Amino acid sequence: MKNIAEIRADFPILGRSVYDKPLVYFDNGATTQKPQCVIDALTEVYTSYNANIHRGVHYLSDMSSEAYENSREKVRSFINAGKKEEVVFTSGTTGSINGIAFSFGERYIKPGDEIIISHLEHHANIVPWQMMCERKGAVLRVIPVNDEGEIIFEEYLKMLSSKTKLVSVTQVSNALGTVLPVNEIITAAHSVNAPVLIDGAQGIQHGVVDVKIMDCDFYVFSGHKIYGPTGIGILYGKEKWLSELPPFQGGGDMVDKVTFEKTTYNELPFKFEAGTMNFTGAIGLARALDYVMSIGRIDIAIREKYLLSHATERLSAIKDLKIYGNSVRKIPTISFLLKDIHQYDAGMILDKMGIAVRTGTHCAQPVMDRYGIDGTIRASICFYNTREEIDILAGGIEKVISMFA
Ligand code: PMP
Repeated sequence: MKNIAEIRADFPILGRSVYDKPLVYFDNGATTQKPQCVIDALTEVYTSYNANIHRGVHYLSDMSSEAYENSREKVRSFINAGKKEEVVFTSGTTGSINGIAFSFGERYIKPGDEIIISHLEHHANIVPWQMMCERKGAVLRVIPVNDEGEIIFEEYLKMLSSKTKLVSVTQVSNALGTVLPVNEIITAAHSVNAPVLIDGAQGIQHGVVDVKIMDCDFYVFSGHKIYGPTGIGILYGKEKWLSELPPFQGGGDMVDKVTFEKTTYNELPFKFEAGTMNFTGAIGLARALDYVMSIGRIDIAIREKYLLSHATERLSAIKDLKIYGNSVRKIPTISFLLKDIHQYDAGMILDKMGIAVRTGTHCAQPVMDRYGIDGTIRASICFYNTREEIDILAGGIEKVISMFA
C-alpha cells in the first residue's frame, strides 16, 4: 500500500487551506474528494473523445461508447455481478432507488402488500417507498433500532410474512455509522420470497462488496461517495428482476422500435438508460474504482478501522461529548453532540479552524427522532484522513467547549 503522504498527494484538494488553516476534511459521508486520476479522466473525455454514446457511426462516438461500456464492465467486476446486463447507470443512489420503487410498484404491488425498511434509513430510502405505498395502497413497515443504533433483528423477523413484497435497507447508516447485518437480512427475506434492495451509498467505499455472495436482488450506490464524479450512480439488479420490471423512464436509446401504436423496449441494461447518459461520469467512476483497487479494499478497511478506533478513543475521552451510534460494527463515522452547545454553533466554530464536519439531521430525520434530538455533529472519516487530523478535531472540540464554558 502507498504510504499516507503518497495517498494524500493523489488528492489535490487535500493540500489546500481554508481561513489560512490546513483543510481537515471530515465530511466524506456527504461526498468524497477526487484523486487526480479521476479529474484527469474527465479532462481526457472532453479534450480527446467527447461524443454522444451509442448513436454516431463516427470515430469519436465509437471511442466514447467503448469507454462507457468498458466502465460498465469495470463496475460489474468491482461488485462481482454475474453479467454486464445487470449493471445500469443512473444519476446516483437516489435515482436508483426511485427507479426501482416506481417500476416495482407498477409491476408487483397491490393494496395491503408490505414493504419493509429500517429506522436507520436515509430519506432516499424512505420517501420513494412512501410514494410507492401511497400510489399502490401498500403499507410501509419499519424495523426498530436499539440504543446502540443497531436494528432489532428479532423484530424484523416478526415482520416478515407472505405480505412482504420487498425489503429495502441500508448497508451502513450514514447518520450513525452502524453496519447492518445485510447477509442475515437478505437470507430471512428470501425465506418469504421477498427480494431485497441494499442501499450501498455508505457501504461500497468501506469494504469489499460482492453482490453474488451477498445474494441481494438490487444494490445501489453513488459515484461521488467512492471518489468518483457527481451525477453518476449504479443500479445493480439480478437479471430475473430487471428483465421483468418495466422501465422507469422513457426516451431515446431505451427503445427497440417506436411507433405511435406501440413501442418495444431495448434489451438489458439499455431498457433502463433513457436519454443521453452521463457517460463522462461513468468513465470517471470507472477510474475511481481502478484507484480504489490500486490502493486495495482490504487495506482501506484496515486503515479505516485504525482511524475509527483512534477517533473513538479521542472523542469519547472528552467530557460532555456524547457519541450516538455505538455498535461494534461501524464504519469510521462518529456522530456526536456537545452538552449545552448547539450543533450548528459547534460546526461553525470548527469550520473557522479549517475542520469540515457535517451538522444537522444528515437526511435521516427519523434516526434523530429515535434519540429525541434535532441533529448531530458528524465526523465522517476515510482512508486518506490521518491520526493527526483526528487529534486536530479533538483539540478543536475542546476549544469549542472552553469557549462556551
Ligand atoms: N443513502 C445513504 C445511506 C446516503 O448516505 C446517501 C447520501 N448521503 C444517499 C442514500 C443518497 O445518495 P445521493 O444523494 O448520492 O443520491
